[in-house]
Amino acid sequence: MRRYEDAKVGLLTHGLQYGTGCFEGIRGYWVPEERELFLVQLREHYERLAISAKILMMQLPLDIDELIEITTELIAQNRFETDIYIRPCIFKAAEDVGVRLHNVPDYFAIVPIPFTRYLDATEGLKAGTSSWRRADDSAAPPRAKITGLYVNSALAKSEAIANGFDEAILLSHDGHVSEGSAENIFMIKRGVLYTPDPSQNVLEGCTRRSILEIARNEFDLPIVERSIDRSELYGADELFFTGTAAGVLHIRSVDHRAVGDGKMGPITRRLGEFYERVVRGKERAYDRWLTRTYSGRTVKA
Ligand code: PMP
Repeated sequence: MRRYEDAKVGLLTHGLQYGTGCFEGIRGYWVPEERELFLVQLREHYERLAISAKILMMQLPLDIDELIEITTELIAQNRFETDIYIRPCIFKAAEDVGVRLHNVPDYFAIVPIPFTRYLDATEGLKAGTSSWRRADDSAAPPRAKITGLYVNSALAKSEAIANGFDEAILLSHDGHVSEGSAENIFMIKRGVLYTPDPSQNVLEGCTRRSILEIARNEFDLPIVERSIDRSELYGADELFFTGTAAGVLHIRSVDHRAVGDGKMGPITRRLGEFYERVVRGKERAYDRWLTRTYSGRTVKA
């Protein structure tokens, strides 16, 4: 373990210059009454990181179980008593000129920070369709959480804010709905839950998967994963985003058209509240998604 200020990266590092790195965003939720910090879906995140790394021809230094163990140990040693965000990353670490994936050493790090809310969606978000299309798998694969690919998200997010929206919705090259700048998107129409399938250039979100499981198991909702047209969003009963940083985020309008009556709909509310209970350790059946940081561990001084 090192202090953040002491962990330096050189200016010519490939991961910085060429965007050849990948990362994860993991949440930890502090539950004061239990004096416990619950880390959410460590295994799912590290499994996704392993796939991202493989796509970029990098090798994680440890197996998934070991990564879970050192992450929990790192958090325990920091003695956080607040909600947190954990950023594991692996990047091409050579400091020379010449873009490539082969014959470049990589470097792995985990950075945890205190973190509360990502986007304030209490009133619902105003979303706008971006003029920037989602990167296509045939150019650079959005299925991997690749550092350089976030230029696509950043262009869309800043355009959305400049245009008076809270968040962007990116379409894929063929005009179908893909996802937000850092969230997956869901639509509810006549009691059916729709979300773009994994071939729509989405990052396969861990929260997306959790919400699908909760929708199926707890609320018996019919689920359809398929391509969605932009104009279908305009006629949706409810829309929401999902993401690790944000949880479930109600969308109140798209391209200046109110979603339903603009208020949070009942299904979004139920799914969002249930998810919140899960990540704070209040739904025993979903304990398997959580890693306890403090109880049962001896924290090394
Ligand atoms: N799409 C993109 C582009 C993202 O950056 C994120 C955030 N990781 C998501 C979707 C949501 O994924 P997750 O639920 O795993 O955080």
